[in-house]
Amino acid sequence: MTAQDQMRKMLDQLMGQDRDGGNEHSNLKFTDKEVCRPFLLDICINDLFTNTRADLGECNKIHSLALRSEYEKATTKRDYEYEEEILQYLQSFIKDNERKIELAKKRLEMQEKNPELEAKAQVVHELGIQIGEQVAKSEALGAEGKVDESLAVLAEVETLKTKKKEAEDAYFESLPRNIMGMREQILRPCDVCGAMLGLYEKDSVLADHFGGKLHMGYVTIRDKIKALEAQVEEKAKTRRERLEERRLNKEKSDSREEKRRSRSRSRERRRRSRSQDKD
Ligand SMILES: [Zn+2]
Ligand SMILES: [Zn+2]
Repeated sequence: MTAQDQMRKMLDQLMGQDRDGGNEHSNLKFTDKEVCRPFLLDICINDLFTNTRADLGECNKIHSLALRSEYEKATTKRDYEYEEEILQYLQSFIKDNERKIELAKKRLEMQEKNPELEAKAQVVHELGIQIGEQVAKSEALGAEGKVDESLAVLAEVETLKTKKKEAEDAYFESLPRNIMGMREQILRPCDVCGAMLGLYEKDSVLADHFGGKLHMGYVTIRDKIKALEAQVEEKAKTRRERLEERRLNKEKSDSREEKRRSRSRSRERRRRSRSQDKD
């Protein structure tokens, strides 16, 4: 996006896209399908990750602060149930991310307590020790002037080195793809955004991550989910209370009606019995 585009977009958001008299959107209502509904609730995901690894591209719907304030006014009089809709949308977005985090954690656990992997690492470790011992032996033999024996031992070392290379390959192949086994390179997923972070990462690198746009984008989404959940719950509570109130009122009026009827029935009976007396 050029600086000019960016400026235009900022102005669009600030003043509405029809700011310069072009009547492009002036007859739009916030309920129209061209309008970005998440933006009405102040959370368009596309805007959160611009220029990050998770960039979703520009939102193809209309963002307009004018329409947002129209919506905010209208929603005090009527429930459009956008909170429920956007909550579901955000939850499914986060669910995908959560699956990724779970998977990465499982891989990590697998690597940490996988006996097969440990055995493979042990083979590499033992071959390394043997090589070290044989090299020392060969040097000692050489120092004693036993050149042939020294060279024979060195030939054995070459075989051991080949075996060690094979054992290393077998070990690395069994490792989960994104983890290379070495302490410094063990990665774990960030619980909030799912980015892979070095387990032994420097503080300054971590600080950059936790203050970075990608991570903060997920923080914003997660906070919004919490806020919307509270709003939806509050609305449901109000609805339940209103229904209960209506039910109680109906019961009251029903019983009043019942009393009135029974009174009129007994009046009727009295009237009839009086008229029978006269007959
Ligand atoms: Zn949008
Ligand atoms: Zn993060």
